[in-house]
Amino acid sequence: MRDYTFEDMKQINRSELGATVPLELFRTIRLIGMYQGLPMGGKGTTLTVGRKIGENLPANTVEELFQLFRDLKIGLPMIVDQNERSLRVAVEDCFCKGLPVDEEKMVCDLEGAIMEGALKKILNRTVSVREVKCNVHGDERCEYEVRLQ
Ligand SMILES: [Zn+2]
Repeated sequence: MRDYTFEDMKQINRSELGATVPLELFRTIRLIGMYQGLPMGGKGTTLTVGRKIGENLPANTVEELFQLFRDLKIGLPMIVDQNERSLRVAVEDCFCKGLPVDEEKMVCDLEGAIMEGALKKILNRTVSVREVKCNVHGDERCEYEVRLQ
């Protein structure tokens, strides 16, 4: 039995319901299923899941990765600050936009882990991504600190 690839995920043949699912289903899986359903807000699991997804995305450059983020409607990423050892990536229109604000929460760790897995492969460096801003947290957008080693 072979592993699924991202190419396999694009083989869609649903005659009536088509290729997309509503955002509320994605949010339900992410926030009710994973965040609330797993121990510790699903932290370790979310990281494992996100990194694995990131590694499997067909992106060879940061620009291709950002285009995939747009195409998959994860969000609209852009680099807002950059130096030798780190990047700041803001993501506008994240899936969490519009959810009730709860200043104790940041909920976009999966998206950061996807970025981490993909950037590690693209840059061939040790990468760690930390979520530093989130709409749900009351910030003006979601944002990640990407450390490069
Ligand atoms: Zn967020």
